[in-house]
Amino acid sequence: MQAGRNQNTNAIIAVLPGQEGRRFISLCDSAELSRGDVLCESNHPLRTAYFPTSGVISLAMALGALPPLQLGLIGRDGMLGATLPLDTLAAPLRAVVQIAGTAMAMPVAQLQQELRASPRLLEAVNHYQFRLMMQTLQTAACMHFHEIEPRLARWLLMIQDLSFTDKVQFTHELLSHALGVRRSGITLAAGSLQRQGLIRYSRGEIHILDHPGLEAAACECHEVLNDKYRAVFG
Ligand SMILES: [Zn+2]
Repeated sequence: MQAGRNQNTNAIIAVLPGQEGRRFISLCDSAELSRGDVLCESNHPLRTAYFPTSGVISLAMALGALPPLQLGLIGRDGMLGATLPLDTLAAPLRAVVQIAGTAMAMPVAQLQQELRASPRLLEAVNHYQFRLMMQTLQTAACMHFHEIEPRLARWLLMIQDLSFTDKVQFTHELLSHALGVRRSGITLAAGSLQRQGLIRYSRGEIHILDHPGLEAAACECHEVLNDKYRAVFG
């Protein structure tokens, strides 16, 4: 990760008006997010908060020796460190970069000062914390009730929404962990979406060809979650 300045858009920082926003950005460093970077282990203190401006961070739960299970995705809509207003001592989930990109980064101690000083920032972080909770709850229900293929379609839509990219670098292992299923299930689901002309995948890259078609193939969770956000936050 490299230091520097970055003024791209992040939804939480975008809430801060004029001078307050510029001041906050001036306090941030720019971070390059490389796929596979571990930003925080679960049950360890979070040292740095990240506000992605591109790219996607995955939140995962590990149980013993089992592979980590992905429960949430963070993109330009939010931040890593949204539980800080709760005075938490440790991060609840493992945070790993899923899609490479950039973020604005701020040491946690400094962000805690900013949260105490800015009711507007605190409100934006609290709202996002609630959104992230809704996303993880929806993901838990989705994993239990829905089939692999519509879940893969939903996951690709989420990645596209969060990162504004229609190309996703992937391995079968990555998708297996993302969806909590065996690699053979990923192969079947991706093959089916490709035969329908919705995606094309080769050499470790999925290219999303048909967004509306993917929405039709996805489970209801994608739309349900957007409806819930609108109902709660307008
Ligand atoms: Zn679902």
